[in-house]
Amino acid sequence: MISTSQHPNLSTHPAVEVRGLSHRYPVGNKTVAALQGVNLTVNDGEFVAVVGPSGCGKTTLLSIIAGLLPPTDGQVSVLGGDTGSARRSQELGLVTQDPGLLPWLDVASNVRLTLDITGHVDAADERVNELLERVGISHFARYYPGQLSGGMRQRVALARALVHHPRLLLMDEPFGALDEISREEMRFELLKVWEQERTSVVFVTHSIREAVLLADRVVVINGQPGRVTDVVEIDLERPRSESMEEGPRYQSLLADVKGLLVSGNDPSDSLSAVPEDRT
Ligand code: ADP
Ligand code: MG
Repeated sequence: MISTSQHPNLSTHPAVEVRGLSHRYPVGNKTVAALQGVNLTVNDGEFVAVVGPSGCGKTTLLSIIAGLLPPTDGQVSVLGGDTGSARRSQELGLVTQDPGLLPWLDVASNVRLTLDITGHVDAADERVNELLERVGISHFARYYPGQLSGGMRQRVALARALVHHPRLLLMDEPFGALDEISREEMRFELLKVWEQERTSVVFVTHSIREAVLLADRVVVINGQPGRVTDVVEIDLERPRSESMEEGPRYQSLLADVKGLLVSGNDPSDSLSAVPEDRT
């Protein structure tokens, strides 16, 4: 089991601290309540998964933590400061479902782009090579995004998010668009990378299996507006392995989390929410 207390860069601050967070989107002359009274702490070095049915406010929460969306109400602190300064000092890495690579740049150039833009060119090649190796695409450094599979493009997006050694990695359904085989592969690649890079992670997913397999803690959000209804400690050993998924402890945690989701009887493992009347 990897203990966060062994992390060499141990900080006295939690990676994320969210208090009394609510968010409403303006729509015409009305507002849509997306989140209500959310509290969340992510400890330094911790891997936290956020699960909930679609429309419960997961992306809203991640966007607020990333400093991309100012919340209507509540406090957010990231790495002990405000989220804007964490973003400006490149302590945040963001990976979404869409890899968003520049099609006219090859893999290596996509990964090193922000190093070039910010003038961090010393040792850039080494860092890029190290990351391409780490995410398993070093042979594809000179390929263009259009020549890669969806899974490979997501590996590039992950390498790009890590290039600045972020202390907090925010991931919004990063494997959501992948086929099941690539998705399974990427889960273990991500864990390997996390164990080597030791960043804190907030991983949003609607897959309960993914959440339980990856995380130290699973935060369950339900409803519209979304509220944190439960937090489940995942006491599976690390490193996690495929064989664990067959084990009784994994199965029992999976059943626990499933039972905590309001639409948790969806047999496909992907939750779909019944949209509520917002008027
Ligand atoms: P999730 O990521 O869990 O699927 P979102 O955070 O995307 O949920 O959305 C939460 C709620 O906020 C939903 O009801 C959604 O329709 C609404 N919403 C999200 N983005 C906007 C927006 N830009 N304008 C208006 N409503 C939005
Ligand atoms: Mg979303």
